[in-house]
Amino acid sequence: MESQNLENEDAELEDPPNIDNLRIKKKEESESERMKVLVVGGGLSGGMLSYFLKSKKHFKITCWEKSRGLGGRAATKRSSTISGCQADTGLQYLTRYEKSARHDEIYKFLFDKGVISKLDVTNIANMKPGSEKMQHFKAINGTNTIAKTLWEETNAEVIKLQKLKSLDYSQDQVVAENEQGEKENFDLVVLTIPPPQITRDISFTPPIEKKVQETIDQVKFSARFALVYFFGGDYDIDSRVAASYAANRDDAIVYWNIDEAKRFGMDTEKNFRTTMFHFKKELYKDLTPAEALPKLQEHVAKSFPKLISGVAIKVPKYTNLVKFLEPYQTARLNLGLLSHHSSPTPAEAVPHRWLFSQVDQKYPDSQGFLSLGDRVIICGDSFGTRGNFDGCLESASQTADHILSLLPNTSTFNDKTEK
Ligand SMILES: Cc1cc2nc3c(=O)[nH]c(=O)nc-3n(C[C@H](O)[C@H](O)[C@H](O)COP(=O)(O)OP(=O)(O)OC[C@H]3O[C@@H](n4cnc5c(N)ncnc54)[C@H](O)[C@@H]3O)c2cc1C
Repeated sequence: MESQNLENEDAELEDPPNIDNLRIKKKEESESERMKVLVVGGGLSGGMLSYFLKSKKHFKITCWEKSRGLGGRAATKRSSTISGCQADTGLQYLTRYEKSARHDEIYKFLFDKGVISKLDVTNIANMKPGSEKMQHFKAINGTNTIAKTLWEETNAEVIKLQKLKSLDYSQDQVVAENEQGEKENFDLVVLTIPPPQITRDISFTPPIEKKVQETIDQVKFSARFALVYFFGGDYDIDSRVAASYAANRDDAIVYWNIDEAKRFGMDTEKNFRTTMFHFKKELYKDLTPAEALPKLQEHVAKSFPKLISGVAIKVPKYTNLVKFLEPYQTARLNLGLLSHHSSPTPAEAVPHRWLFSQVDQKYPDSQGFLSLGDRVIICGDSFGTRGNFDGCLESASQTADHILSLLPNTSTFNDKTEK
């Protein structure tokens, strides 16, 4: 993958950032005079940031999201053929590390809305020691509902299938251009996309200063494949646990779960019909999902021979191929907590490749965000202490404080929220 910005690497910003230019003049009530903020990315970081700014009447927030849906890496895949089957392919569950007022606020908001509830981790095998002492939460209707609910609360204008291609921040306003070449002016643009993806996909005028680009380039994300099996009919997977991490570091499958067991608990009346597998990072990352699918299935077959033997595998998204797998004769490996006791029935197999999956190396010396000049900010999970939900929250919170500090006569969020 080539960076679109390589030709700009040696350039310098013309002027050092001038914070006074960004300070918002006292705005009147008129909508046209509110500060126009573009949040690029409809994931958790963007949703949380907009949530923290929502009570301020000074902002008119627009979100550009390149995909069809909100959530980003908090993604939930719904079966196209089997009603009621769904699986989280990215973020699995929330673990509460931080205890700030903003963390309290977001967890309480999602809890009160019924979006998250406590997760019983005694049914997750091979978790890190000490995990049972921490608080964990599941998303009852899928992890993408976390982002959706946050965004709904913000009253932002969310534009889906809108991919940012370039930013011109050389003037008083930032000109954002989408893939179709349409341009719109904003007072401030906040990018919540993983930094390596920004470098790959977005061009800047003026180009990012070389030294700044070098620090951005220190941020590393790993790639990872997820694979979902949807079983139809009365299929009921017989398992003693809802999820499991691999017992051995070298296993190709590093984590798997049964979605219904994770969301509804082991005692639910619902059938267990959906399994999701996460593979070792970087495995097959240069293959397309269609190319990787047979290889991923082979790993599942080796680890869980009873689960897929004789099952019809459909690949709806990438090919129309429907093929019948011969029973695998291979020995069952040590993830053997999973088996089935009913007749195999047709299933959908859906691979998903996360090219920018999880933070391997976070932004160095982060204050929660990075300013490019006066009017462009980059934030997200690689700017938090941890590359997870709490990291998004920390980065969104610090970015919100920064933006709010640019308003006249204000200090930080906590003592000036307008109700
Ligand atoms: C496999 C996997 C497992 C994980 N497990 C957990 C877990 O169990 N617990 C946990 O807390 N965290 C987990 N995480 C991490 C968690 O998902 C992330 O920290 C979080 O979702 C990041 O949110 P974000 O908003 O910062 O970024 P993203 O979710 O990446 O959001 C960025 C958004 O920007 C959009 N976008 C990209 N480019 C453009 C463009 N040019 N124009 C417009 N929009 C664009 C994307 O479509 C996306 O919606 C996991 C992640 C993965 C991939």
